[in-house]
Amino acid sequence: MEKPAPACRHCGACCRTFPVFASDADAEREPRIRAEALELKPWLRTERWTRQLFPLPFHERCCFLDAADRCTIHPTRPAVCQEFEPGGDPCVEARRRDAATRDHEGREERGSTKTHGET
Ligand code: SF4
Ligand code: SF4
Repeated sequence: MEKPAPACRHCGACCRTFPVFASDADAEREPRIRAEALELKPWLRTERWTRQLFPLPFHERCCFLDAADRCTIHPTRPAVCQEFEPGGDPCVEARRRDAATRDHEGREERGSTKTHGET
C-alpha cells in the first residue's frame, strides 16, 4: 500500500528559506503577486520565472506569510509553492535551516540582553 503523503506542519520554514519566484500566469491569477513581487530584469527572466517574491530588500520572509506562519494567498499562491512537497527533502532542509537561524538569533538576543545588563 502506498504511504500517505506527510501533512504540512504549517511552520512557514519554506517561505523564509528558499528564494521564491513566480510566473506571469501566477501574477495573472493573483493580483497581489502582480502588485508586490519584484519584476525580474529582462535578462534574468525565464519562460517560467518573471517575478521574485523572496528574498526582497528588508524582508525576512515571503511578504505573503503572516505572523501566524500562514500564507495569505494560499488558494492562489505561485505554482512553485503549490508544487512544494511537505515532508520532501527541500521541506526537511528548509526546517533544518530555519531552526538553525532561529537558534542563532535566540543566542544573539540572549547575548545582547546580557551585554545590555553589563556596566
Ligand atoms: S517547511 Fe514543510 S512543513 Fe513547513 S510549511 Fe513548508 S512544506 Fe509545510
Ligand atoms: S506565496 Fe505563500 S506559500 Fe509561497 S512562499 Fe509566500 S507565503 Fe509561502
